[in-house]
Amino acid sequence: MNNFCVNVNAQSNGDHEVHNTDAGCRYLPAPGNRIDLGLHSTCRTAVAQARHHFHLVNGCAYCAWQCHTS
Ligand SMILES: [Zn+2]
Repeated sequence: MNNFCVNVNAQSNGDHEVHNTDAGCRYLPAPGNRIDLGLHSTCRTAVAQARHHFHLVNGCAYCAWQCHTS
């Protein structure tokens, strides 16, 4: 299980990126700009959880690449 978070600030295309906070991602948002999504075994359930907060959600291309679509 890994801890995931979603960036409260959207990318330029409107997506809110989901990150694996345990992966040491260099694009991890600052702590004040994250919503904690809790522990997930895959990024897919983390993305589903993030959709409760934001309409447009995408996996980070680096730490959640399995869920990166755009
Ligand atoms: Zn990331």
